[in-house]
Amino acid sequence: MTPVETEDPFLQRLCDVMQRIAQQGDLRAIGPLMDMTGERPEESVQARLAEAFAHMVVKLEAREFELECRISDLDQTRRELEAANLDPLTGLPNRMIARDRLRQALTDANTRHGLLTVLFLDLDKFKHVNDTMGHAAGDELLCLVTQRLRGCLREGDTLARLGGDEFLCVLPGASADDAQGVANRMVAVLTDRFQLAAGGADIGTSIGLSHFPEHGRGVDELIAHADAGLYEAKRNGRNRWCYAPADAAAA
Ligand code: GH3
Ligand code: MG
Repeated sequence: MTPVETEDPFLQRLCDVMQRIAQQGDLRAIGPLMDMTGERPEESVQARLAEAFAHMVVKLEAREFELECRISDLDQTRRELEAANLDPLTGLPNRMIARDRLRQALTDANTRHGLLTVLFLDLDKFKHVNDTMGHAAGDELLCLVTQRLRGCLREGDTLARLGGDEFLCVLPGASADDAQGVANRMVAVLTDRFQLAAGGADIGTSIGLSHFPEHGRGVDELIAHADAGLYEAKRNGRNRWCYAPADAAAA
């Protein structure tokens, strides 16, 4: 907004207040204007202008308050929804929450021209643990896997259990280099032997990666690309991370 200069001191103050509100978005700047409304005869153009402006600001303040309340209600609902959608075994967010977090992270990345990576994991030879040591040992292993994977992530990243031995990670702000470092660590930490109540267990993990915006701009696209990378990792011998081959990504 271009600064206005006028000979009329009353109008000048009115313009200054409007300017401050426009620049700083702080509706409290209306204060000095409220004190001025009695300075001119009520019927003068300036007085009516000041009054109309003050009226508009009061309405805006009410709308701002209403919006803040709605945002706070939405945050509360989101927290309740998340709490009701945790995987009972590992305490991790489930598929629905994972998709919701990815959607939010994509909105942020889109508005700030940011980066984002999705990792899709499936444990290697997990069924063997179930088959040889029992389902309870498999459950115990899934919890220990969760702990180790958490240790590879930063605050703000999401780790979710999609079901079975499948996990999804959303890494907001992660470049390809950052994400490959995380994937390397995950492969390494899950290769180390697990000590279960029933004995030692050896598994591994295969991981598919996808980056926003390179491999997609939407939730489904990024998950599908990472899933194709995971399939490629399994196909190439497991215990590694991969990107989807170009032909699979185009399909
Ligand atoms: P691959 O290396 O090809 O990934 O094979 P895998 O042995 O890891 O087996 P796969 O990924 O095909 O299947 C995962 C198995 O996990 C299938 C199911 O028996 C088992 N499973 C699924 N949910 C649970 C669970 O909540 N607890 C336990 N203990 N096992 C589960
Ligand atoms: Mg598996």
